[in-house]
Amino acid sequence: MAKIPVAILGATGTVGQRFVQLLADHPWFEITALAASERSAGRPFSEVANWVIPGDPPPWLGEMLVHPLEPNLPARLVFSALPSSVAREVEPVFAQAGYAVCSNASAFRQELGVPLIIPEVNADHVAMIDRQRTERGWSGLIVTSPNCTVTGIALPLKPLDDAFGLRKVFAVSMQAISGAGYPGIAALDILGNVVPYIDGEEEKIEVETRLLLGRLADGRRVEADAVVSAQANRVPVLDGHTVCLSLGFEERPTVEAALAALAAFRGPGLVRELPSAPEHPLLVRREPDRPQPRRDRNAEGGMAITVGRVRRCPLLDLRLVSVSHNTLRGAASGSILNAELLVATEYVR
Ligand code: NAP
Repeated sequence: MAKIPVAILGATGTVGQRFVQLLADHPWFEITALAASERSAGRPFSEVANWVIPGDPPPWLGEMLVHPLEPNLPARLVFSALPSSVAREVEPVFAQAGYAVCSNASAFRQELGVPLIIPEVNADHVAMIDRQRTERGWSGLIVTSPNCTVTGIALPLKPLDDAFGLRKVFAVSMQAISGAGYPGIAALDILGNVVPYIDGEEEKIEVETRLLLGRLADGRRVEADAVVSAQANRVPVLDGHTVCLSLGFEERPTVEAALAALAAFRGPGLVRELPSAPEHPLLVRREPDRPQPRRDRNAEGGMAITVGRVRRCPLLDLRLVSVSHNTLRGAASGSILNAELLVATEYVR
């Protein structure tokens, strides 16, 4: 098949750069435009993007001129890595103009009629697009991917919820500095320190987790009724979010039954066939000191969530630790998997 032309909105940022790198050689998508703020528009990408991720930008992209955020880009699908306030204005304009928007921003994640998707968890929520188009009169669409910390929570919770009925979640996060974008938090504030506050993060973890584990009824999302309590911390780690979870269930699982459910998890068959899908969305480690962000964030190309320390919890039923790559599975790669799902389900042709 001919490759689908795609553009990246916010291409110069931390997540935008990941998109550039991942899409440069994608089997289904071809980068045809890069866009960012007025500060960067009209200038070569290599001149305005302060490259902060490992490796180099593809040389042929360096000379591409950055576009302003106007819906006249030579693409059918756009990946949005824009700040939420900008995304709220720009993404509906693109959807109205016929583009499929795969967004990383929080602007529309909790909005009625806009799917929030991790394909292995709730691929069926793409069906919300039919109602979205009818109600909003868009020929395009918006699909969102979750907050980077939520990805490392919802994926391991999915098989446990399916098997044992999730009732309570207590989540404590240790989030990497790349999660704050560029230039992010000042070195003097984070080196040798832990900051026990990230604006808006705890509310996102609590709400988005319930949306992802929810079900569809009559084309609308009904959120899961598990109670989620989150405490978010910024720690001096470059990439990779760690989350400690305590979980309560309808039916208390044994540790071995929980380990078996986590290790067996694969996601729906359609999703397994997508080019960016990892073979194992969840990798289970049994060593007492894993997972760790530096050692585990790149598992399966940064697409697998690594879980470990699965054990009994004297407060709830079970405890575990998860590590995920926040700018790969938690952002750009997760969003690309969503775009592949849109192609496989023919919402994008
Ligand atoms: P970032 O490094 O600050 O990059 C922001 C991008 O948006 C840049 O390309 C910037 O372009 C553009 N931009 C900024 N202000 C703009 C404006 N007023 N008008 C137009 N474009 C503007 O941020 P990031 O970390 O990549 O995050 C991007 C989005 O992804 C955010 O919504 C964030 O919440 C979400 N997200 C981030 C992560 C993560 O781990 N970092 C994970 C999941 C989701 P210029 O270079 O031209 O200023």
